[in-house]
Amino acid sequence: MSNVVVIGTGYVGLTTGACLAHLGHHVTCADIDSTKISRLSEGRIPIVESGLENLVREGLRTGRLHFVVNASQALLRSDFTFLCLPTPERHDGSADLSYLQTALETVRDDLRFESIVINKSTVPVGTVRFVERVLARPDVGVVSNPEFLREGSAVHDFLHPDRVVIGAVDQAVATRVASLYSTLTTRVITTDPESAELIKYASNAFLATKLSFVNQIAALAEAVSANVDDVIAGMGSDKRIGESFLRPGPGWGGSCFPKDTKSLISIGSTSGIDMSLIRSVVEANEERLEQVVDRIEHLSGSSLKGKKICLWGLTFKANTDDLRESPALKIATKLISRGAQLSAYDPTVHDTLSSFPLMFIFGSPLDAAEGASCVVVLTEWDEFKWIDPVLVAARVDSRTVLDARGILNRSEWQDNGFTVSGIVC
Ligand code: NAD
Repeated sequence: MSNVVVIGTGYVGLTTGACLAHLGHHVTCADIDSTKISRLSEGRIPIVESGLENLVREGLRTGRLHFVVNASQALLRSDFTFLCLPTPERHDGSADLSYLQTALETVRDDLRFESIVINKSTVPVGTVRFVERVLARPDVGVVSNPEFLREGSAVHDFLHPDRVVIGAVDQAVATRVASLYSTLTTRVITTDPESAELIKYASNAFLATKLSFVNQIAALAEAVSANVDDVIAGMGSDKRIGESFLRPGPGWGGSCFPKDTKSLISIGSTSGIDMSLIRSVVEANEERLEQVVDRIEHLSGSSLKGKKICLWGLTFKANTDDLRESPALKIATKLISRGAQLSAYDPTVHDTLSSFPLMFIFGSPLDAAEGASCVVVLTEWDEFKWIDPVLVAARVDSRTVLDARGILNRSEWQDNGFTVSGIVC
């Protein structure tokens, strides 16, 4: 078993560290956020992620998992150093590598002789070479090992991956990295660094394409009186297509797809390739958000001015507390700009959000629905499926629901006098 340091203890880094400790490695997780580190050292995790807290506690109990602000000591004996750092979008759509650069400058002198740096952040093609240049440590191997976990099932995805991708110049270095995952039953795909880096972007852009596609088909199905669920079942049972990522929704978001699609467009532009398909996918998603807001306005009776709209769900998807680039929040911004008053409920959001001081957060979906002209389901949390429409009917001003996730039992709500709508162009 190996000694591992993980730099950056967010969704990816914490999952990586806790799972590698679970697999038997000795792991030190480092982060510049000292509050986060002291909470983690007590076994308290700062994010909602199924099974992760148990793994963190297991790692602390067995002594295989440690949390530090300064990783210097751990780096001196570390075989592998993972980079799990933010790569946010810059103004021009390209990925900002400054977090990576700062972290590399901090660790480079402490890296053990002939150890390996493994990048898990999602980065532009050519970043392995960038890392090599910043490190200026010819004895240290640098590898791309993109992460494909989904928030909400991160632990499961890490321990049961569809594949592990390792991009390395040196095959011997790739083999050493593969040994970290040797107890997992999965396919290891070894490539050059550039291909590994592109695999990640291509995968996310393809998934975003599927979502934009199904959202347009859903709008069309509604417009031509076709049943979108039947259309998807009919399409998805074709093995070449598959059913996953064919669920219509209010638009895609989250911490990855928006920035990764833009970064891919930017990589194309600097490489002389017009990524016109991906640009259309991004544009279709922007239109989708607008369609949701138009539909809410239509359902509320021509104008949103002064209307109370209740939002059920704020996170970008269910089973996570991640609000980054959430379609629900983009829709909230547009509703406010059209004069709506917002109330909201989300199982992971308990306080007013600083960027939405006038959106009132309630502790239950029923309280949020009080006096609403329209209730909008924006995140597919299971608990919304079981809400009794009779109880909602007693609280709302108008029995109008926009189910942007298609999770409610439509006939049950209609039987209780609700107008239940999906989204149409
Ligand atoms: P995150 O924002 O949750 O976590 C990043 C962490 O890095 C934070 O805790 C931050 O404090 C820490 N950090 C910043 N600078 C540091 C430094 N110099 N030294 C130590 N720690 C530092 O980010 P994330 O969601 O875990 O994503 C990390 C990378 O992985 C991104 O490139 C992202 O695109 C990619 N990725 C994310 C997901 C996902 O679902 N979140 C999935 C696959 C890949």
